[in-house]
Amino acid sequence: MSTTRPITPTLRGVGGWQTCPGCRALLYRKRLRRDLGVCAGCGHHTRLTARERIAQLADPGSFVEMTGEAIPRYGTGWDPISFGGRRDYGESLAAAGEKTGEAEAVVFGTAGLGGCEVVLTAMDFRFMGGSMGSAVGECVTAAAEHARRTRTPLVVVTASSGARMQEGALALMQLAKTAQAMAGLREDGVLSICVLTNPTFGGVSASFASLGHVVLAEAGALIGFAGPRVIGQTVREELPEGFQTAEFLLQHGMVDDVVPRAGLRPLLHRLLRVHHPQQQEPKTVPGTPPIRRVKRLRTEDPWEVVRRARHVDRPSTTDYLGLAFDDFCALNGDRCTGDDPAVVGGPARIGGRRVMVIGHQKGHTTGERVATNFGMAHPEGYRKARRLMDHAASLGLPVVCLVDTPGAYPGVEAERRGQSAAIAECIMRSSTLPVPIVSVITGEGGSGGALALATADRVLMLENGFYSVISPEGCAAILWRSADEAPEAARALRITAPELLGLGIVDGVVPEPAGGAHTDPAQAADNLAKAVVEALDELAAVPGQDLLSTRHQRFRAYGKWQASEVRSA
Ligand SMILES: [Zn+2]
Repeated sequence: MSTTRPITPTLRGVGGWQTCPGCRALLYRKRLRRDLGVCAGCGHHTRLTARERIAQLADPGSFVEMTGEAIPRYGTGWDPISFGGRRDYGESLAAAGEKTGEAEAVVFGTAGLGGCEVVLTAMDFRFMGGSMGSAVGECVTAAAEHARRTRTPLVVVTASSGARMQEGALALMQLAKTAQAMAGLREDGVLSICVLTNPTFGGVSASFASLGHVVLAEAGALIGFAGPRVIGQTVREELPEGFQTAEFLLQHGMVDDVVPRAGLRPLLHRLLRVHHPQQQEPKTVPGTPPIRRVKRLRTEDPWEVVRRARHVDRPSTTDYLGLAFDDFCALNGDRCTGDDPAVVGGPARIGGRRVMVIGHQKGHTTGERVATNFGMAHPEGYRKARRLMDHAASLGLPVVCLVDTPGAYPGVEAERRGQSAAIAECIMRSSTLPVPIVSVITGEGGSGGALALATADRVLMLENGFYSVISPEGCAAILWRSADEAPEAARALRITAPELLGLGIVDGVVPEPAGGAHTDPAQAADNLAKAVVEALDELAAVPGQDLLSTRHQRFRAYGKWQASEVRSA
C-alpha cells in the first residue's frame, strides 16, 4: 500500500539570509526558494533535498510516495556486513535519519508531471552523501520495476557520491541490480529519463544514472566516475578547465542535454509528451503527393541538379524540423567520445505521428556551415545516429532520416576514430531495426555517408536532390584525371531523381516549388511531410516480421541482372 507524506520544501528556514556558495553574495531565502534554489546573481544551483526536487517537478498534490513499501526493514540497526569502521554503521544511519528526516538517501513514488503520469525518484545528498547501499538500490529497482509493470515512464534525479562503503560488496552489487532494472525498461519499451545533478559520481554514475533512454544533466553539475581529488592524486597532473562539469560531458557526448533548473520541468514535460503513445493523433497534412512514375518527372541537366542540390539557401534538416515536424526534442552525443553537430536527431511528431528524426545538418551561413563541417559527419555523428535508432527501436518509434551530405568526413581524426566501422554499423543496424524507416534525400546524397541514413523501407528523394556512389568531381578526377569534367561525370553516373526512380533505388520523388526548394521552403516542407506521412501510414500496416523481410529483399535484389535494366515506366 502506498503511503502519502506531505512534500514540504525545506530550503533551510523560511526567512533570513544565506551565503551563495558560487559568488558569496547574501541571498534572501524566500527569493532563493522562488528562484528554485538558483542564485539570481551568478546562476549557482544550490543543492536540493529529495523532497524539494519532487516539489519542483511534480504537479501540486500529485505525488504518492512508495519509499516506505520498498524499504520497511532498513534504517536504524541495519548493518549487513557488521561494518568494522570507527563509527558503527547503525549509528551513522540513525544520525543521517535524524538530520534529514528521511529513512534513506532516496525518495520515490508516482506523480503527475504536466499531466503525464510518471514514477518519480529523487536522491538526497544530505543522507550520507547520497551513497547507494542496499536500500537505495532496492528503491531505484522497485521504482523501475513498478514503471515497467505499469508501463509508466520513469524519471530518476540523482545526487550521489557513489556506492556506500559501509555495506562492502553488497553495495557494489547494487550497480548490477539497478542496471538490470534499467535494462528491463529498455526491453519492454518503457521510457526512462535520468537527470544527473550535482554531484553524481562512482557507483551511481556507473550504473542506473547513465542508462536512461535520455540522460540530462543539470547546469553546472559535477559528474564523473572517479572524483577529481582521486584523479588528481592518481595522474598527478593539472586537470583541464571545466573538467567533469555537465557542459564537459555534453561536449564529450555523454549526455543528451544540459538544462538549467528552471528549464527542467518544461523539458521533461516535452519529452514525456512527444514519446507518449496515447497522445498520437494522426491528421492529414497539406502538400503535393510524391511522384512515383518516371514519365511524370521533368528531365533536367544533371549538373544543373547538382548545383541546385548544393544551393546555400536550400532548406536543411533543422529547417524541415521547424516547418514539417512538431515538438522536436534534440538528443545529443554518441555516449562514447563526442557530439557531432553534422548529425542532428531526436523524437518529434509529423502529422501527429510519433517518430525519431535523424538527419545531416549543413546550415546556411558561413559560421553554421563551418560549425557543422558542411554536413560531413565524423564517426561520432554515425554513432549518435545508431544510438538514436536503438532508442527508436526500444520505444517503437518509426525512424525518419533526412539525408543531405557531400559524404562522410575524410580526415585523419575521422579515420583514427573508426569512420568505416561507424558507417558500417549504422547500415547494419538499419537492416535489422524492428520499426519502419523512411529516408528522404533532401539535397546531396553523398556515398556511404548518405547510405548510413538511407537503408530504409521507403527511400524518397526531392526533385532536385541527387544520390551517388561518389561526387561528380571525385569521379572525374579519378577516371579522367580532371575535376573540370564533373558535369560530364554527373551525366554519366545517373544520379538524378528520374534516373534513380527508374533504377528502383528510390520509391518516390517529392516535388519542389518551381526554381528549387530554396525559393519556397514552406511549400517544400509541406510536400516532404505529405510524402513521409503517406509512407509511414503504408508501413504502419505491415506486420513487424514482414517489414524486416521486405527490407532485406529490397537490398538483396540490387544488382541482380534482371533488376539492372532501367525501368521504362
Ligand atoms: Zn551566486
